[in-house]
Amino acid sequence: LRADEDGLKPEEKEIERALRPLSFADFTGQHKVVENVKVFVQAARNRGEALDHVLLHGPPGLGKTTLSHIIAHELETSIKISSGPVLDKPGDLAGLLTNLEERDVLFIDEIHRLNPVVEEYLYAAMEDYRIDIMLDSGPNARSVQIALAPFTLIGATTRAGLLTSPLRARFGINARLEYYDTGLLTSIVKRSCSILGTPVDEEAAVEIARRSRGTPRIANNLLRRTRDFAEIKGDGTITLEIAKIALNALDVDSHGLDDMDNRILSTIIQKFKGGPVGISTIATACGEEAETIEEVYEPFLIQEGYIKRTSRGREATERAYKHLKIVPPQQSGS
Ligand code: ADP
Repeated sequence: LRADEDGLKPEEKEIERALRPLSFADFTGQHKVVENVKVFVQAARNRGEALDHVLLHGPPGLGKTTLSHIIAHELETSIKISSGPVLDKPGDLAGLLTNLEERDVLFIDEIHRLNPVVEEYLYAAMEDYRIDIMLDSGPNARSVQIALAPFTLIGATTRAGLLTSPLRARFGINARLEYYDTGLLTSIVKRSCSILGTPVDEEAAVEIARRSRGTPRIANNLLRRTRDFAEIKGDGTITLEIAKIALNALDVDSHGLDDMDNRILSTIIQKFKGGPVGISTIATACGEEAETIEEVYEPFLIQEGYIKRTSRGREATERAYKHLKIVPPQQSGS
């Protein structure tokens, strides 16, 4: 589903780790979220208490995992990492929870994909720092209660709407990460270049930023590829010309839309007369999972005004027609 560290080669993982901000000061953008979280972290530290549970939501690659590491770091505690689909059985969760030390952070990625049975167990853990475990089954079945160290759960999700309301209600802090504007992404690209020791021209950094779908992860990925081009086709400096050659070779168009974005737009326009058309129909026509389109592609296309969500499905906007250089059909009656 996401360009996770898992899919990367070892040397790329190392770069990824080097580029990841380690403190609030290194974390660019998301100003409001960061300012609030800083206050809550400081207050929890002063009181010597565990930070309230935090829900971070927003599209992939915007810094949810990064921010969680930073929070643990600033709390001076450790972080344990897991994810919704991995925590399959209550025993998996119990194992993790009982290993937490006081004020530790437990990070659960894709928390909207937790098994409902596991989720039930999480409620008492979050609320009262305890977990009830069933021992044996049948006539010998009995439940024992285990006390947990006060801890902070940080849940990350790309789909806040899919969270059950009892789970959502148990997070005291709820923050939405937004797409980054070109200025912020330019600073991220320049910061990454200085860590990598790669010289970059200002206009080249802006160009990479502009074409990164508002997403730091994509900016860093494009930067890594552009750096390869600069080393092979140039003298190692990322110039505007090199950046353009690299980005075109990577099929990122001048507005930062990638191949799948363009496929989605042309499907709606060419196969479904501009819509409205349902997400699952679009997904089938594009050969992509509906869930991925909803989580990864659609939010950006909506924010940038290429598609509209209506009660009857998705519609292409005039901007989408212009982008694909197709003349929009005349509105009936006009
Ligand atoms: P998410 O968990 O939301 O999918 P990540 O936290 O894994 O996103 O971020 C992806 C990558 O983007 C990180 O490895 C980091 O290098 C970079 N990144 C994310 N947010 C920022 C930021 N605010 N400033 C600088 N780099 C960032």
